[in-house]
Amino acid sequence: MGKPLVAVFSGAGMSTDSGIPDYRGPQGLWRREPDAEKLVTYEYYMADPEIRRRSWQMRAEIGALGARPNAAHVAVAELERGGTPVRVITQNVDGLHQLAGMPARKVFELHGTARSVVCTACHARSGMDEALARVAAGDPDPACTACGGILKPATVMFGQRLDPVVLGHAMAVAKGCQVFVAVGSTLQVQPAASLAGMAAEAGARLIIVNAEETPYDSLADEVVREPIGTALPPLLHRIAAEGGT
Ligand SMILES: [Zn+2]
Repeated sequence: MGKPLVAVFSGAGMSTDSGIPDYRGPQGLWRREPDAEKLVTYEYYMADPEIRRRSWQMRAEIGALGARPNAAHVAVAELERGGTPVRVITQNVDGLHQLAGMPARKVFELHGTARSVVCTACHARSGMDEALARVAAGDPDPACTACGGILKPATVMFGQRLDPVVLGHAMAVAKGCQVFVAVGSTLQVQPAASLAGMAAEAGARLIIVNAEETPYDSLADEVVREPIGTALPPLLHRIAAEGGT
């Protein structure tokens, strides 16, 4: 028998050990701004240059944190390197799964990535680093160098749809995997959260690793409440060991 396909679904809790702030939590970066949500809402971002300037300033602050992959990201990448087929579906935009060594083609970023920027007019993509360098050099709202259009982070803002292609891949993985490990997500943001139910319905073993309860706990074969950084590595080792038998 071949090794089982393991889907790892990750949310904000996966990256807290990496120092990525929970933007929307009580201490979140966005909360320090009076009308924080506007900075990540497509309609306001497109309409108001001042919102864009503040949004770029926030990006510069987050970028300066220099987040690195943590033990949990590394454990996922090692599972894949060890020969177990792994696909990552993530709600995070930090790119830390790939930095830890997961091949980019096996990572489906439901909410896009903050490591790239995209032109809202011609859809050209370029690096976030490059855009932030222009901000640092005194251009507070850098425009697309190809067409002059408004640039934005390649993340899915409030008011934007998830990329249907990425969502389609994620659904296929959820339905086709033998093990679905949901890590650090409250499983409350739809449609992403419903992937856990989809996997369970298709017969996958559902394992939930999260500090708080989730709506899918009753469907799960296993619920782990321990901290992700210590719980995930041994859990994935166990899955790898079971896989060959
Ligand atoms: Zn453009």
